Amino acid sequence: MDRQTPSLGRLIGVSALVCSPATGILLALVLTGEANPATALPAIGAIIGLTALLIRSFLGDLSLVILRMRIMTSESIEADRMEEGGPLPRLDVAQRILTAANALDRTWRKRHKVLRDQVWSDGQVLNNLPDPLLMIGTDAIVTRANEAARVLFNREPAGQEITSFLRDPNVLDTIESVLTTEESRQATWIMPGTVEREFEVRATRLPTKGVDGSLALLTLHDITALRRLEQMRADFVANASHELRTPLSSLIGFTETLAGSAKDDPEAREAFLAIMLEQAQRMQRLIEDLLSLSRIEMEEHSPPNDPVEVVRVLESVRKFLDIKARDKSMEIRIESDAALPPAIGDGDQLSQIFQNLMDNAIKYGRPGTPVMVGVALCDRGPPAMPAALRAPCLKVSVRDQGEGIGKEHLPRLTERFYRVDKARSRAMGGTGLGLAIVKHVVARHRGALTIESKQGEGTTISVFLPLHGAKRMGAVNAAE
Ligand code: ADP
Repeated sequence: MDRQTPSLGRLIGVSALVCSPATGILLALVLTGEANPATALPAIGAIIGLTALLIRSFLGDLSLVILRMRIMTSESIEADRMEEGGPLPRLDVAQRILTAANALDRTWRKRHKVLRDQVWSDGQVLNNLPDPLLMIGTDAIVTRANEAARVLFNREPAGQEITSFLRDPNVLDTIESVLTTEESRQATWIMPGTVEREFEVRATRLPTKGVDGSLALLTLHDITALRRLEQMRADFVANASHELRTPLSSLIGFTETLAGSAKDDPEAREAFLAIMLEQAQRMQRLIEDLLSLSRIEMEEHSPPNDPVEVVRVLESVRKFLDIKARDKSMEIRIESDAALPPAIGDGDQLSQIFQNLMDNAIKYGRPGTPVMVGVALCDRGPPAMPAALRAPCLKVSVRDQGEGIGKEHLPRLTERFYRVDKARSRAMGGTGLGLAIVKHVVARHRGALTIESKQGEGTTISVFLPLHGAKRMGAVNAAE
C-alpha cells in the first residue's frame, strides 16, 4: 500500500469523528422522535461527505505547499511525481512541512553563500582593475570606487559628490547628461599637477539601478603615454625633416653659388666642394642611422640567439676607430677578464652599438686622454633592474675623460635627436641618433644600459648583456 494514500475508509472515519457532535445531536433527535429519520440520516451522510471533501481539499493545498517548497529546494524528482497526480500526503503533513522547510533553509543558505562569494570575487575584479572606476548615484554622489580610483584621487571617493574632486566642467556635463538622458558619453580630462595626466573619461548608464543606488559607471583611462607617443612621433618626423633639410639647403645654396658668382673662382670652388661633400656625408649618415633605427625597432620583439665573443667584436671596432682616436691623440684601451663566456647577441648590432659608444667617447673625450673599454663578468645586472638581469651577465663599459654630462640631461640622452649641445654634436658629425640606436639594440638583446657622468671628469656608459645559454626574461633600460 502506498505510504502516502489516506484510504477512503480512513478519510470517512476521520470525517465522522470530526462531525461526531453534529451527527450525535441529529441521531438523538431521531431516537427521541424529534426528527424524521428520512431527512436526518441523509443529512448526517451529507455532513460527513462534505467534511471528507473539505479535509481532502485541505490536504491537497498542503501537498501543493510542500510541492512548491520541494521545487525550490530542487527535490524535483519527488515534486514531479507529485505534480503528475501523485499521491496526497498522509496526515503526518506537519513532519513533512518541517522537513521541507529545513531543506528550503539549507538551500537558501547555500545560495546566499554562492551569491556572497560571487559579490566578493566581483569586488576583487573591480578593485584590481588598473583603470580607476567610480559608480555614480543620484545627485552625482559616488556610491562605489575601486582601488585605482582611491589611489588616483588620494582619498575615498565613495559617499562624496563627484564635483568635490573632479571639477572639470566637461566631465561634469558628461556625467549630468548620462544621469538625465540615460545615454553613454565620453570626455577628456586633464588632471592638473606637476606632471599633467590626460584621461579618457567614459560615463556609461547602467541598465537598471543598482542596490546601492548606482545609476552610472565612470571609467578613467590614462592616455598620457599614448598622447606622449603621438607627440614623439610628430616630433620625430619634424626633427628628421629638419635634420635632412639643413644639409640639403646648404647643398642647394653652394650649387647655386658655384653655378653663378663663384663660377670662375677656383679657390671658392675648392672650399665649397669640400663643404658640399661634408653636407652630403652628413645626410648619408643621417639616412643610414634612420634606416638602422627603424630596422632595429622592427626586430626588437625577437631577441637574437647567437653566441657572440664580445671581446673580438670590440677589438675589430677599435681597429676601425683607431685612426679617428689618433687624430685627437687618443687611444682606445680594452681591458677584459680572462676566458669570458660568450654573450647572447647579434654580432653586427653589437658591433654597431660599441662603435657608437667608442665614437662618442672619442668625440666628447678630452684630446690626449684614453678611452677605456672594460669587459667583465658580473653576478647580476644593475640594482634597479626588474627581473631581466638577475643572473650572471657580461658588462661592457666605455669610459672617457671628457667634460661629462649634466645630471638633468641623463634621462633624455637616449631620445632620438636629443643632444646636450646641438652645434657641437653637428660640428663633430653627430646625428643625434647614436644612443637611441644603442638603447633599442640593448632592448632587443634583453639587456640593460646605464649612463653615469660627472661634469669635468667624464662619462661611463655600460651595457649589460645576458650570457649565451642563460634564461631569458624582460628587456630593461636603466637610463630611462
Ligand atoms: P650624437 O650623434 O649627437 O653624438 P648620440 O645619440 O650619440 O648623438 O648622443 C646624444 C648626445 O649625448 C650627444 O649629442 C652628446 O651631447 C651626449 N653624449 C653622448 N655621449 C657622450 C659622452 N661620452 N660624453 C659627453 N656627452 C655625450
